[in-house]
Formats: sequence, structure tokens, C-alpha cells
Amino acid sequence: MPQPLTFRKQDQTEISEIFSSLQGEGPYLGVKQIFVRFGRCNMHCVYCDELAKMKEESFQIYDLDGLIAEVMEMEREKGKHHSISLTGGEPLLYAPFLVHFMPLLKEKGFTLYLETNGTLPEALNSVLEYSDIIAMDLKPASSTGDRSFEAQHQKFLEIASRKEVFIKVVITPDTREDEIRRCVEIVRSVNANIPFIFQPLSDAFGINTQALQLIEGFFFNVAKKHLSDVRVIPQMHKIWGVR
Ligand code: SF4
Repeated sequence: MPQPLTFRKQDQTEISEIFSSLQGEGPYLGVKQIFVRFGRCNMHCVYCDELAKMKEESFQIYDLDGLIAEVMEMEREKGKHHSISLTGGEPLLYAPFLVHFMPLLKEKGFTLYLETNGTLPEALNSVLEYSDIIAMDLKPASSTGDRSFEAQHQKFLEIASRKEVFIKVVITPDTREDEIRRCVEIVRSVNANIPFIFQPLSDAFGINTQALQLIEGFFFNVAKKHLSDVRVIPQMHKIWGVR
């Protein structure tokens, strides 16, 4: 029998790893964070480098106290961090747990940085008040090889825009211009000042030049026509060789 996608427990969760490192993407590039990586994801992107870790048998089960203790220990051991990155997988699949976990982290004085694929608006709504920074992906189907989530993205961004939010879009050689136009329209319709970041596909050997050419040649200007803050920031952790 297939496992239910959403992990509904309120007092337990599935974690694939917890570690201290540098943020490798977006406008917070280079800040020191504790990464709490939740297990499952509701998508299956062709370029995902976490798919190998998304196996139920490799998840560690934590209860609330155990996970808080682990985070506090890492803060003590590694020194002060800028924020806690709640990442995945898709952390919002664990919203019933996050509703309890995030306020406890806030009580300890942490800044919470939610890294999400932007497809689960109701789950976001339930934890919005505890989220300080929302790093939201828009996922064109031509980039991911998965299905389209445009309607979910629209709803999600409307909710996220009540907090600090920025958008990342991974560009591959297959990404289509019509989908980028629709991504830009979603952001423009909510708030044209939300930062919009193109992330050319990259790996340990560097940035994919075809993806970069698509951004430079077409997509950047398409976005800049309607949005005020458009940037290109590669995924640096692969290039730096850190997690
Ligand atoms: S949404 Fe993120 S974690 Fe999920 S499959 Fe895609 S790249 Fe991987």
C-alpha cells in the first residue's frame, strides 16, 4: 500500500538530515544557517539532488523535544547562526508538526527561513505567523518534468506576500518562455516588487551554459519588463562543494 504523502502526526516528524552550513541560494547567499531537512516531497523534479535521500527507510523520526534539543545543540556547538532553514523535501508536508515546532523555535529566539516549492497554500497559511522569510520556488513544468502548479503558486504567493518573500525559478535548457511569462505574471499580479531570482541549473562542474544563455538572451528581459527586482544567482553550494 502506498504511504500517505502528508505526514499527519503533530508530535513526530521525519527528518533526512540536520546540519550547519552556508545558504547556497538566493538573496541570503552565504549566511550561516542550521538546515533542518524534512523527508518527503510532493514533487519529483528531474534536477533534484535530494531524491536519493527521500526514502522512508533513511528518515530519522524525531519528536518535538528531540528536534528542539538537536537544534539547540548545533547552535551551541557551531556558534551563532543567522537563521534556521526549514527545508526538504517539502517542509510544508509536515505542517501539523510545524505548527508546534515553529513557535518553540521562535520562543528560543531563532529567525525562521522557510524553503518551499510553493505548492501547498493551506499548509503555508497554518504556519505563516511563525515564518520570517519565505524562499518560494516557482516550478515551470518544462523545468521540473513534473506537472504544472500555477494555480497553487498563485494562491501560495498571495498568502506568502504578507511576509518577507522572494521567488526562485530554476532554469534548465528545456524551460519554455511561455511558462516564464506566466511565472512573471503571477508575481506581478501579487506585488511587482517581490524579488525574482533566476537560478540557472548548475552542478559540481559549474553552471549550465545553455540555461544561462536562455536567461541572458530572453527570460531576464521578459521578467524585467514587469518586475522591479530581477536577479540571476546560481546555486552556489554545488560549486562550493558544501551541503
Ligand atoms: S520540489 Fe525540491 S525537493 Fe521536491 S523534488 Fe523538486 S527539487 Fe526536489
